[in-house]
Amino acid sequence: MEYAEAALRCGLHEIGISDHCPMPHGFDAEWRMEADELDGYLEEVQRVQAAMQPQGLIVRCGLEADFHPSATDYIQSLLTYHNWDYVIGSVHFIDDWGFDNPDEQTAWERWGINEAWCAYFDAVAASANAGLFDIIGHPDLLKKYGHKQPNHAMVHVAENRMLAAVKLANIALEISAAGLRKPIAEIYPRSSMVVKAAKLGIPFAYGSDAHAPQDVGHAMQECLQCLQQHNITHVAQFSGRKRCMQEITHVR
Ligand SMILES: [Zn+2]
Repeated sequence: MEYAEAALRCGLHEIGISDHCPMPHGFDAEWRMEADELDGYLEEVQRVQAAMQPQGLIVRCGLEADFHPSATDYIQSLLTYHNWDYVIGSVHFIDDWGFDNPDEQTAWERWGINEAWCAYFDAVAASANAGLFDIIGHPDLLKKYGHKQPNHAMVHVAENRMLAAVKLANIALEISAAGLRKPIAEIYPRSSMVVKAAKLGIPFAYGSDAHAPQDVGHAMQECLQCLQQHNITHVAQFSGRKRCMQEITHVR
């Protein structure tokens, strides 16, 4: 409820709630709800939807699903569990390396930076190919702790392959302010990826990736301006897993 109230205070017309999905076998358990909390989550979102309707705020019910090749059947079962408005597919792991976890940063010494970025983009491409999601979450999350995407031919090739997979799967990329709150202090994704995606006609959806009510709507103007600088005029919104494109000038 606090998130929806924050959205009202920001003057938003619509907010999507997308908690981290349950995962099997205690996978990354600290960061997500348990499977038996899913019904409570849905009831809470429905309560918020009912409370916000008279105030004119549309509340969408989504999920941030992890993509991991070992769990696609499980994710598939979650997708049919409820009539979601949208499902974000996020890569937080390369194999068993939780690269966005502050306690797992020493693994960079094992990976070369080029190899890590290629493996990351390959994992994101696989998440698009899985055909499960509506939006790719924070599409260059690997930079979170400051490991910028290197300007190396093999990394460009992997990035291009990932974007081609996203285009083919006809899904959207998230543009997220969360990176501004992290050591990298940069929007996800960086602007050169926005340029490439714009050329391919890949749609974007704005997300604040709020993990606290005060994050709701964070740097929305900056994210939308970044899109507009690259001649993107519309952003994606979702209802019942159908995408509709809304003019940026109507969103802000
Ligand atoms: Zn995430």
